[in-house]
Amino acid sequence: LDHEEFRRQGHMMIDFLADYYQNIEIYPFHSQVEPDYLPARSNGSIANFLGEMLCTGFNTVGFNWIASPAATELESIVMDWLAKMLKLPSSFHFSGGGGGVIHASTCEAFLCTLTAIREKKLSVIGRENLDKLVVYCSDQTHFSLKKSVQIAGISPENFRPIVTTKSDSFQLCPESLRLAIILDLEAGLVPLYLCCTVGTTSSTAVDPLGPLCDVAKEYGIWVHVDAAYAGGACICPEFRHFLDGVEGANSFSFNAHKWFLTTLDCCCLWVKDPSALTNALSTNPEILNNKATESKQVVDYKDWQMALSRRFRALKLWLVLCSYGITRLRDFVQGHVKLAKHSEWLLAGDKKLGSPSVIPNDEDFNEFNRNLLESINASGGARMVYAVVGGVYVIWLAVGATFFEYRHVNKAFKLVQDHANALLCTYWK
Ligand code: PLP
Repeated sequence: LDHEEFRRQGHMMIDFLADYYQNIEIYPFHSQVEPDYLPARSNGSIANFLGEMLCTGFNTVGFNWIASPAATELESIVMDWLAKMLKLPSSFHFSGGGGGVIHASTCEAFLCTLTAIREKKLSVIGRENLDKLVVYCSDQTHFSLKKSVQIAGISPENFRPIVTTKSDSFQLCPESLRLAIILDLEAGLVPLYLCCTVGTTSSTAVDPLGPLCDVAKEYGIWVHVDAAYAGGACICPEFRHFLDGVEGANSFSFNAHKWFLTTLDCCCLWVKDPSALTNALSTNPEILNNKATESKQVVDYKDWQMALSRRFRALKLWLVLCSYGITRLRDFVQGHVKLAKHSEWLLAGDKKLGSPSVIPNDEDFNEFNRNLLESINASGGARMVYAVVGGVYVIWLAVGATFFEYRHVNKAFKLVQDHANALLCTYWK
C-alpha cells in the first residue's frame, strides 16, 4: 500500500461521497435496471468505488436484488471471479449451478450450511429426530464450529471432534471418521455434517479433502471445507494442491479479511446447491414482494444468510481484486511465505532455540514457553500468541500483516532470542 496514493484516493472518495449526498435528489428512488444488467458494465464504469469507505458512505441495505441490483450483481460477479482464481470446480460457480455469497464470518458460513442440511435431512427423517443429528470434525477444527452447532440446535452430545495425532500431522484421518460414523449409526444416530479444514488455526494442518469427502459421500453427509486464513493462498499455483479434493465437498469458505488484503468483515462462502440454503433460510413476507423476485431470475441474498439486512461488502472485495490483480495478490502471499520461511531459518540457525533438547522435559518445556511468551508480550516489542498442539505449548509468530517486512521478522526474532536467553539463565542456575 502506497501511503500517498491512499491519501490521494481517500480524498477523492470523500469528494465523491460529498457530491453524491449534495446531489442526491437527482437520483431515482427506485432502481431503473433490469436483472443481469451489471456484467455488461462492470469494467471501467464502476472503477472509482473505494471499498469500505463507499460501502459505509452509501449505506446500501441490499437484502434482495430490488433493494440494490448493484450490490447483488457485483457480489455474484466478484464471487465467480474469486472462484475462478481459486480454481474451484465449476459446480461452485453461478454459471455451473452453484454460487457464492459474502458473509461476515466463518461462524455464519458454518451456521447457514448446517441449517441448510439440517432442514433437508429433517424433511426426510422427521423433525422429531433433531436430537439424532451428528456433526463431525477434528479436534483441531476452529471452535466456532461448536458455537454454530449450539446455535443450530444440534445436541452438544452429538458434536464429534475426532482425535488427531502428531504422527498424522494433526490431519483428520478418513478411517477414524468412518469408525466414528459406524459407531453412531449403530447407536441409531444420523450423520449430518463434516467440517474439514485447510489450514487449522493451531497447527496449519490440512485435512485430506478427497478421501474424507469419499467417506462422507457414502453416508450422505454434507462436507464443508473451512479454509478461513489459508484459502486465499490457494490462488498461488504452488499452494493450489491444498484444495485438491474440494470438488467432493458441498460448500467451501475462506475469510478474505484474514490474508487477502481485505478488511473485516468478508467471509466468502460457495455452495454447490444454493437451493439447500434458500429452502432453509428464505422468508417471503408481503412487504418484500416484487416482480424481480417473482421472476426467479435474480439472487436475493437475504435467503443465503442469517440476517435480512446486509452491507455492500462486494465493493471492497471488488476493489481489491481490480486494484491488485491476481499477480500482485500472489506476490503478496508469496512474500509472506518467504518471510515465514526466513523466521524458520533464523530459528533453525540458533543453536539453543533451534534444538528441541534444550529443555528435554515436556512439562518444563511448556512452562518455559509460557513464561517466554509472557515475557515477550510484557516487553511491548511484539505481540505473539500461543496454541497447545498435541500437548505442546507452541508460540506463534504470525506473518500476515500488510506492512510486514524482513526487518520486522529479524526484530521479532531478536526479541525472542533475548528473552529466551534471559529465561534460560534462570532455568540453568
Ligand atoms: N476457521 C479457522 C481455520 C480460523 O482460523 C478461524 C479464525 O481464526 C475461524 C474459522 C473463525 O473465523 P470467524 O472469526 O470468521 O468466524
